[in-house]
Amino acid sequence: MTTNTKTGAAIPVVARDAGMRAFECEVTGEEIPLPECLACAQRGAPGCSMFPAFIHQIVTDSRPHDFSQHLAKTHSADFGISVTELLYCPRKFRLKMAHSWTEKPSDFYARFSGTAIHAALEDYEGTGIVEERLIATFDYRGKTILFSGKPDLVTYSDAGWFITDYKRTGWPPRSSYSYTCPKCYEVILSDVTDRRGIGGANKPLYCPDCDESFTRRQVHQITHLPEAKLAHAMQISLLALLLNKNEEEYASILAEKHGIAVSDAPPAFSGQIIYLGPRDILPIPVEIDLNAARALLRTRLDALLRPELPPKEPLEGWECKYCPVALQCDTAA
Ligand code: SF4
Ligand SMILES: [Zn+2]
Ligand SMILES: [Zn+2]
Repeated sequence: MTTNTKTGAAIPVVARDAGMRAFECEVTGEEIPLPECLACAQRGAPGCSMFPAFIHQIVTDSRPHDFSQHLAKTHSADFGISVTELLYCPRKFRLKMAHSWTEKPSDFYARFSGTAIHAALEDYEGTGIVEERLIATFDYRGKTILFSGKPDLVTYSDAGWFITDYKRTGWPPRSSYSYTCPKCYEVILSDVTDRRGIGGANKPLYCPDCDESFTRRQVHQITHLPEAKLAHAMQISLLALLLNKNEEEYASILAEKHGIAVSDAPPAFSGQIIYLGPRDILPIPVEIDLNAARALLRTRLDALLRPELPPKEPLEGWECKYCPVALQCDTAA
C-alpha cells in the first residue's frame, strides 16, 4: 500500500458531545433522557409499544458510536473502522463523529432486531469460532488504520476456512427469471423475481428486435438462482481479508478449544450468508474475492478520510430512513 504524506488523510475529529444524547419518545415525539424513558416503560407507558426489557437492553449495552476510535486508540492507531461501518454510509460515519442526535426506540429496534441470532449463537456447540473479533492495522496515506470485524461463525475443514454470517430479513433473496425471444434470442425481460402474470393472456411479451409479440409459453425462460446481496457478499470477503491476517490466532483457538490442527498450506477461504426469513432459512454460498475487498477498503477509506464530507453514493442494503444523523445530512433520501 502506498504512503503519500503530501496527500495525507484527514482523520475525522470526534466532537466532545457527539453520540446519542436522548431518546425520542414514541408517544409525544419529544426528547427524553434514556433513564427517564426506561422508568416510563417500567411504569407501563400507556400508548407505547416499547417494553422495558428492550429499552433496558439499549440503555445498558448500546455500543458507543465511536467504539472503533476507542479500539484504534488502544492499539495506537490513528483511525478505526469496522467491516460494518465500512459498508454503511460514509456520510453517516462522518456525521456521527461530529454531531449528537436523538432516536426513537422503535428505530433502534428496526436496525437491531437482526442481531437476535447472536444470542442463539452464544450457545453454539459445534467445532467453530463464534464472534471473535479480528483486528488488523496497516498504514494508509501516512496514517495508521485499525480495521476490525467480528464474523458470526468461522469453521475449518480440509477445504480451508469457512465464514458464515446470519442476516435476518423479511425479504430473503429469490430466484429470478429472464425471457428471450424464440426467434432471435434477444432478451425480452431480464431478472424478474416474480413470474406471476408475466406473458399472461392480457400481457403479451414483445421482442424489441422482431417487433412481434409472444405468450409466455412461446418464449425461452432462464432461471437464475438467488444470490446474496452484494454488500453482504462483500462483508464476507472483508472478513476473509481480516482472517487472512489473523490466521495464526484463529488456528490456536481451534487447536486449544477443539483439538483441530490447521494445515500449514496457504489459507483458502469460502463462506456463506444465511438469510433468516419469516418462514424459512436460506443459505447462499458467496465467493470470496480478497482483491475486490482490498479495493473496496481503499475506496471507502479515501471517501472517509477526505477533508470535506463524502458525497452521497448509492449504497446497497442501507436506507437513509434508518440513519440516526439524517437530520444533519443534506443529501438524505
Ligand atoms: S441520511 Fe442517508 S446519505 Fe445522509 S448520512 Fe444518513 S444514510 Fe448517509
Ligand atoms: Zn451478523
Ligand atoms: Zn426477436
